[in-house]
Amino acid sequence: MKLNITVIPGDGIGPEIIAEAKKVLDKVCDLYGHEISYKEVLMGGCSIDAYGKPLTDETIEAARSADAVLMGSIGGNTQTSPWYKLEPHLRPEAGLLGLRKALSLFANLRPAYLYPELKEACPLKEEMADRGFDMLIMRELTGGLYFGERSTKEVDGEMTAVDTLIYKESEIRRIAIKAFEVARKRRKSVISVDKANVLDSSRLWRKVVEEVRKDYPDVELSHMLVDNCAMQLVRDPAQFDVVLTENMFGDILSDEASMITGSIGMLPSASLNDSSFGLYEPSHGSAPDIAGKDIANPIATVLSAAMMLRYSFNLDKEADSIEEAVRQVLRDGYRTVDLLGAADAGSFKKVGCKEMGDLLVERIAVL
Ligand code: NAD
Repeated sequence: MKLNITVIPGDGIGPEIIAEAKKVLDKVCDLYGHEISYKEVLMGGCSIDAYGKPLTDETIEAARSADAVLMGSIGGNTQTSPWYKLEPHLRPEAGLLGLRKALSLFANLRPAYLYPELKEACPLKEEMADRGFDMLIMRELTGGLYFGERSTKEVDGEMTAVDTLIYKESEIRRIAIKAFEVARKRRKSVISVDKANVLDSSRLWRKVVEEVRKDYPDVELSHMLVDNCAMQLVRDPAQFDVVLTENMFGDILSDEASMITGSIGMLPSASLNDSSFGLYEPSHGSAPDIAGKDIANPIATVLSAAMMLRYSFNLDKEADSIEEAVRQVLRDGYRTVDLLGAADAGSFKKVGCKEMGDLLVERIAVL
């Protein structure tokens, strides 16, 4: 297969972690007989420095013409970088929001998986960490409260702010379809999260999800209220497979889910549209505090590349081989500095970003 990838290394540690993800992808493609090509473009702070804006038409066009986009991370130190003295629409993050919009990326997938080797980093009770968990939050990304009309004005003599939570049936249907499709690649269970006891938008959400479910009789569906879900995530995270939810609930729940894995350097993400196209990036930021030191953990980006193979190219075996290499490298005791707790640092082999990439490449095998 030919894989035509646009790469956005971005700022801070972005170029370092992307270099390692490319090494891993090259090895997988070599072993499995695929042809991969990359086109690198700028976005974020580096694009501001080069072109005066965080997102150019050339970058949008390069992303559109690719099969998928692999991204590092964008942004700088928000206290000290001159990028943050610019108007909000000219700052690095505006580039990413603009790209998501230009490509209609309405589905955000964030897996939260607790590696048995990293369970000490999990802040939950020991018996919960021992059971482990492996879930994927499917968040609607372009509708709901964050995109509805808003205003702040004086009404009856006092300042009054209004945000509008709006969802169309078609917006709910397309994200629900994604959730059921993804569930079929996993443990075939969807928990749809809403606030149907209060909100009209949630009642419509529930109705449409039920309708979509009729096309997926092999997938189990249940509904959960968002307040209960926030509690269940810390009480019994093992019960979740695919969690389907709207934009704001997903924003909050996906951060909660990532927190209980205890390791920000391990978490990949994907943003998808109606086609097989997707933008794949780590869940963490550009970590300007450690940029250029060869100590960043590249695994979240490497796992994002695995998601790209799985969701944009349907290459499940190849994705599995990357995920297995990650498990092996952890089992073999290698850790980047972010994964080393002070107490157990002595029992592991500390490695930098490049070395971690090399160790992963060594472990990629045909499964
Ligand atoms: P951050 O995720 O960049 O860093 C938080 C902490 O985690 C830092 O101490 C950092 O060193 C550490 N860290 C993050 N990723 C790591 C990795 N792979 N390996 C080892 N340590 C890692 O969050 P922040 O400091 O709040 O933000 C920095 C910049 O990143 C900001 O400009 C922010 O806007 C941007 N950001 C971008 C994205 C994105 O591109 N999607 C997402 C979040 C934040």
